[in-house]
Amino acid sequence: MLYKKNMYKIIDRLCKKWLTWYHIDKIGKEDIPMTKEDIIISNAHDLLNHHTVTEAPINVIEICKAWGISIFEDDFGYVENDLGSDKNKVAFTIAGAIITSPSQKAIYVRKSDSYFKKKFTIAHELGHYFLQHREKSKTEEVVTVSFSGDRNPEEQKMDVFASELLMPENMVRDYHKGKVFALLWEIADYFKVSELDMKNRLNKLGIRYLEV
Ligand SMILES: [Zn+2]
Repeated sequence: MLYKKNMYKIIDRLCKKWLTWYHIDKIGKEDIPMTKEDIIISNAHDLLNHHTVTEAPINVIEICKAWGISIFEDDFGYVENDLGSDKNKVAFTIAGAIITSPSQKAIYVRKSDSYFKKKFTIAHELGHYFLQHREKSKTEEVVTVSFSGDRNPEEQKMDVFASELLMPENMVRDYHKGKVFALLWEIADYFKVSELDMKNRLNKLGIRYLEV
């Protein structure tokens, strides 16, 4: 029953998100205050320090366990079936969702996604938890749905949190110390992230790499 209820909460959140999109000119206006990027990054580091994580790969499942957050895989079929013809309105594919309240903390990831994509989604949803849900969910229920490739500024900031958590800047720079070039697949393998996520990270940090 909890599963069914949670899927309805995801549908409800989606409908609210659509309303925001259809009735406000710009995509990106959300009801949650925006957080500055440096605060997001320091939050990711605080979390790593809290768990005394000093080397890659970062185990997001263990972090979730420690905070009492359950992880579920789902194909979101319940959501899509219920939406019926309305599902055409979904401009993006649901990548994940997070539902938190005084009685539960649950992250949902898309079952058909790759292992690395799921891992990144969990890290992204942890961003929603630590930056938005944590305080609010002590007294009320908070539901957030995330789409793949959503360019909404709020979602992009959660990706910043996820990147920092899975590929912390200091660890990425340490890995490159003494190397003229590093191989993309090797670094991605070391951090156990997708080559695409690592590529984005290295580009953002201005670190050179070889794609072979
Ligand atoms: Zn999100």
